[in-house]
Amino acid sequence: MQPMRAVILAVGSELLGPDRLESNSLLLTQTLRRYGVDLVRKSIVGDVVGDIGRELTSLLGDADLVLVSGGLGPTADDVTREAVATALGRRLIEDPEQLEELRAKFARFGMRMAETNIKQADVIEGATVLANSRGSAPGQLVEVGGKAIFLFPGVPGELAGLIRSELEPWLSGRTDGEVVETRVIKVACVGESTLEERILPAYGEFGREAISVLASAGEIQVRLTASGRVHDRTPVLESMTRRLRELIGDSVYAEGQESSLEEVVGGLLASQGKTVVTAESCTGGLIAQRLTAVPGSSAYFLGAAVTYADNVKRKVLEVASETLDRYGAVSPEVVSEMARGARRIFAADYAVAVSGIAGPGGGTPTKPRGLVYVGVVGEGDPKVKELRLPGDRERVRWLASQWALDLLRRQLLRSEDLSGRGQVESGGECE
Ligand code: ATP
Ligand code: MG
Repeated sequence: MQPMRAVILAVGSELLGPDRLESNSLLLTQTLRRYGVDLVRKSIVGDVVGDIGRELTSLLGDADLVLVSGGLGPTADDVTREAVATALGRRLIEDPEQLEELRAKFARFGMRMAETNIKQADVIEGATVLANSRGSAPGQLVEVGGKAIFLFPGVPGELAGLIRSELEPWLSGRTDGEVVETRVIKVACVGESTLEERILPAYGEFGREAISVLASAGEIQVRLTASGRVHDRTPVLESMTRRLRELIGDSVYAEGQESSLEEVVGGLLASQGKTVVTAESCTGGLIAQRLTAVPGSSAYFLGAAVTYADNVKRKVLEVASETLDRYGAVSPEVVSEMARGARRIFAADYAVAVSGIAGPGGGTPTKPRGLVYVGVVGEGDPKVKELRLPGDRERVRWLASQWALDLLRRQLLRSEDLSGRGQVESGGECE
């Protein structure tokens, strides 16, 4: 079966200005994806009858399904109904049932209906009215020569409601239950090319188009896609997920779009009944901020020390003057002592420490900008990692926090053999 071809037309003059980004198409494309519909074009036009009509005519030549959003409201600039009717050469008819419905809706909210709202009861000749439980403007579905045109309200929440109540059932009836499902595997602190190398065998086994890699700072999302009926695609997705986890190893920190690294770390701490503190220099509290952003973090997060100056590292974390003088603040030795000091003084099970040169200034030939040490200490010796992080100050700080959290995550996963010799592991793959 040939996939259905769809186009999206977003209507709204504000969407052509500098203040508002068109985003309704993203809600629509999520659904189209799931039902295996190809989106071939997206278009934005202002609230102008002629512009909407011309664009609609052009889009109809390209697709079987046209999804229009916006311009169904009561104000003078809401002209989508009129524009679509005109372009299709159909009449716009006031529907008494809709008018009644509209009046009842206003009455329910104890509001008087303005005269201008009456036009929201105008229905394109031959169209089906799509009830909008979240707002006043109903949607409409017009069928023209085997093609379908949906008119949806522009308010994103109302659109989402109609996608669920109208578009999804319509698509599921026409796509033979043929849908596409996506799973996401989240990976921290591995470079994109390293990851590609590791997952190479899976491309051969499942097909290149079934796996896509989306990289952002310090994190990669691997998206797995399978199509077919539910009972066909679920086992495929499950075996793909298993295989990719096997290939990527313990750099996978979560499955699913929603979980963040700090949530995963928090979950591990909570389930092991352990507590953590942070001792931060160049990250300035960012790790603590991320950990405490998770609801319920008071169960495992005790506190943080932001120790920028050497003197504060000495006084608050009891880092030895000798260590600071001999190795400098940005060194594995100092990070080890910061971690040990924080763990001891704050009486925590784990301490995370960071010291580095976030830039843009402060670098030297031996200690360049982007050189960061992150350390974690639990029961055994501190584990310290040397990183050479790319990018500007903000990126270096973010990546350092990402590495520190990931190092803690790995420690928690291996909490049983925490007897590392405090050795320095080099290599900053995190990009
Ligand atoms: P209403 O009955 O609420 O007026 P409407 O169908 O007329 O519904 P619009 O007036 O076009 O909707 O838009 C309502 C709100 O939704 C506006 O704030 C608008 O900026 C926003 N909006 C409309 N279309 C989009 C879009 N494609 N992307 C993001 N926001 C949008
Ligand atoms: Mg409007």
